[in-house]
Parts: sequence; C-alpha cells; structure tokens
Amino acid sequence: MTTTQPDPTSPWVYNTRDMGRRAGTMKTLKMSLVTPDSMGIPVLAIPAGEQVALNLRFETVLEGVMVSGTAISRAKGECARCLTDIDIPVGADLRELYAYPNSLTAQTTEEDEIPLLVDELIDLEPLVRDEIVVQMPLAPLCRPDCPGLCSVCGERLDVVEPDHNHEILDPRWAALQAQFGASSEAIHSEEN
Ligand SMILES: [Zn+2]
Ligand SMILES: [Zn+2]
Repeated sequence: MTTTQPDPTSPWVYNTRDMGRRAGTMKTLKMSLVTPDSMGIPVLAIPAGEQVALNLRFETVLEGVMVSGTAISRAKGECARCLTDIDIPVGADLRELYAYPNSLTAQTTEEDEIPLLVDELIDLEPLVRDEIVVQMPLAPLCRPDCPGLCSVCGERLDVVEPDHNHEILDPRWAALQAQFGASSEAIHSEEN
C-alpha cells in the first residue's frame, strides 16, 4: 500500500494526534462510513454511497499506530452460475501498522511496503478497500448450491419445471406419433 497525503476533511481519515506517542494508548471506534466510490472486482462490488460498518481499534506501539478490527458492508454483482443479480454481505478483518515517519520501521522498510502516518493522520479508505476486495469471491453465487443454467436453452434451472429436459425424439417417430397419437414406445415395437 503506498502512502499518499490523507485529506484531513475526509470522514475516512482518522487523526491520531490526541493519542500521543507513548506506546500502549488504545482507542476503539465504531462507526459507519459511506463509500466515496465503488470498491470491488468486475463481478462483485460495494457500490458508491453504500455504508461500511467499521469496528476499529487504534493502538500506539513503539513504531507507530496499529489499526485492527473489522469492516462489513454489502456488495452487488451477478451469480457466476445463473447470472441472476445478487446482493451479499462482504467483510474483512483489518490489521495494519502505520509507522511513524522517523521510526526504525519506516527507515528500514521499502517505501511502498508499509503505510506511514502522514501528519499523524491515517486514511482508512485504502486499508478497507484492499482488505475487503481481496476477500471477495472471484465466482460469487446466489446460494452455495445454485444449479446454474440449462446447458441447452439457457433457462435458470431454479425456475424451470423439475423434469425440464431437451430429449430429442427421432423425427420419424415424432411424425408417426403425431399421425396416430400413439406413444413412441408403441411405435418403436411395431417397427421392429
Ligand atoms: Zn445462481
Ligand atoms: Zn433447457
């Protein structure tokens, strides 16, 4: 995760200033924030403007501020088997160290490997986005045992009759059947 300058006016940006620099200070925070834009993958995404419930813990450690907790929201997409619209809960556990810029961790780690505290601010949005997106199923389903689509006609197998099939009758029998109104079995035995 690369560190960019957090926007102090964004509701996603948490100011750690009043926590001080001494290790061992802890704060918990429960809040619901609105996504500024969609978070997701091509088949599933939390739409822009959706609520994300955050249950967070901020803890000062020697090298910076540790953020841990959970993020929960809802995502919209398409069932990978039956293509019906889905709206499913998504979430992730969060755990990230935001290093003080002058800490040993910051000095000994590649710049893009760990996020830094910038002006004592933490932008939670990239953290929540990265963790939630990585947990999203690449083939989301409307339900775990979704039967999918009929391979012949493309109808959803959830909505067709239980005996739905495309057994193709021999056209000659079909013609005889139409003519005499007999069953194909009867005609078959007559032919032999
Ligand atoms: Zn489905
Ligand atoms: Zn079919």
